[in-house]
Amino acid sequence: MARWLEISADYACNNRCVGCFSVADGGPSMDGRELTEQLRAGRAAGAEWLWLGGGEPTMRRDLFAIVRAARKLGYRRVKLQTNAMMLASPGFAARCADEGVTEINLSIKGATAETHDRLAQTPGCFDLMLQGVEAWRGRGPIEGDVLAYRSNVDELPAIVRRFFALGVEKFWVWTLSASDSALPEVAAEVPRLADVVRNVQAAMDLALSPRADFITSLHTPPCTVPASHRGCLFFAADLGLLVANPGGHRFLLETSPMEGGLYLDGCATCSMRARCGGLRADYVALHGDAEFRPVP
Ligand code: SF4
Repeated sequence: MARWLEISADYACNNRCVGCFSVADGGPSMDGRELTEQLRAGRAAGAEWLWLGGGEPTMRRDLFAIVRAARKLGYRRVKLQTNAMMLASPGFAARCADEGVTEINLSIKGATAETHDRLAQTPGCFDLMLQGVEAWRGRGPIEGDVLAYRSNVDELPAIVRRFFALGVEKFWVWTLSASDSALPEVAAEVPRLADVVRNVQAAMDLALSPRADFITSLHTPPCTVPASHRGCLFFAADLGLLVANPGGHRFLLETSPMEGGLYLDGCATCSMRARCGGLRADYVALHGDAEFRPVP
């Protein structure tokens, strides 16, 4: 049973983030008919919450029509996954809220303009994001999606500190994958999970929020996280997320190779085996399997 439907209506974006597949401006795109079908299919599967991803959903000319259709079909929450640049446009954030967007998830690459603009490959986008956050503030919850790269992973605690001060209530930490790119410079940016976990721990230890789920780390299996910090663990099946991509592709998040699926021989003896979604094959191909030892 799904709780969330995530729709990526296309892969157009006004950023050019290092390693991101979602910069295909001329790529596949859902038309109004397919969008309606996916919205209906999501409701039939039990979803009451809609997550509009992409690409950058604020680039869609039919964004407000999608939001209105979703609310009419009974979606009680509509979340925008966004770099927030468009929210800085006069009146845009207010219109989003008026049409039925209930919350946003910010795509964050750095604590500073220097880091964020470099990894998003878009000069000025950090300042626009801050303006967009300001325009949205007070209209609904804000969460942050931080993509961990080798060159920003040590900024993670600073990212959490800065954006928490701006009103971000919760953070999701993703680890870059090179599976969508053959470029060596992308592979060189995939961080070691040990570095991701070390910085997730440091961010948790800031103790900024009383929320038990303040920081969730998506691609770090239980054996990479000390027992003291396993509150950050993510089990994809718990999210109840049905993903819909152009061309009629629908799948549950936990079945995606981006979430794991690879188990080592030692996993059979691991106490977390029943819950663990396994390893990302692309990560093991790049960095090997030495970090993964069964949890006693
Ligand atoms: S099942 Fe394997 S990958 Fe998962 S936590 Fe255990 S050792 Fe790690």
